[in-house]
Amino acid sequence: MPIHEKSLIRPENLVTHDQLEIDGVDVSGHWSTFIQSRAVTDYNENLQEEIAALPGGEYIHRCWQCGSCTNACTVNAVNPDFNPRYWIYLIRMGMEDELVRDKDIIWQCVSCNKCTYACPRDVVPEGVMKATAHWLELKGYTEKSPSTIFDEGFSAQVFERGKIEDGKVLRDFFAKTGQPLTQPWLVAMVKGLILRFPVAMLMKLGLATFFRPKTSGWGRARDAINEYVEEREAANRKALGLKAHGAE
Ligand code: SF4
Repeated sequence: MPIHEKSLIRPENLVTHDQLEIDGVDVSGHWSTFIQSRAVTDYNENLQEEIAALPGGEYIHRCWQCGSCTNACTVNAVNPDFNPRYWIYLIRMGMEDELVRDKDIIWQCVSCNKCTYACPRDVVPEGVMKATAHWLELKGYTEKSPSTIFDEGFSAQVFERGKIEDGKVLRDFFAKTGQPLTQPWLVAMVKGLILRFPVAMLMKLGLATFFRPKTSGWGRARDAINEYVEEREAANRKALGLKAHGAE
């Protein structure tokens, strides 16, 4: 049986009568509040399977709706609309439209994993939140989130060279997200580095900007990783009923 929290009732579904009298009793205003009934006709019967097919969503079927995840959630403490238990309920019920209404906050999970430790059913709610955010992107409901853009840039360097050059990770991220490189916090950090780091270390960092580091003998690892990533992405898209990349 799902938990129905008062905060989950959408304001547009509440109806009151300014003037209403029943059997001679004045029940105007909030005394006559009722929740509009609604018929859901557009279930996605595959929604749970689609989320379960993405990394992190594998154990969503175990959820028994105790609410421990939401109760422990760091983000819910500052934004009561952030409700992992409720979203897991919607996913398991196949209520895609209802889930998509919260598309702009689901990505806000900070991966503190308090929900994962609180969950008595090993659902790994943090993983389900990540899988759901990924699902929203793949289905085209949301743009790529900044964290996805950062992860892609970071991963691309690791896949390509087996090592990263931090400066390039940041430069690429700022360029792709339309942010200036002269962020005050970054300028302060660079100044701090210049003042505190040994000269030899600074020279090494500077050289890495031009001669990007690479793990020796990385070629075979790179091929294997790229093959795995392609397989994984194809499997994700197939699970969601999407065409493979290049087949659009
Ligand atoms: Fe479901 Fe686990 Fe959250 Fe309880 S804590 S509602 S079992 S995901």
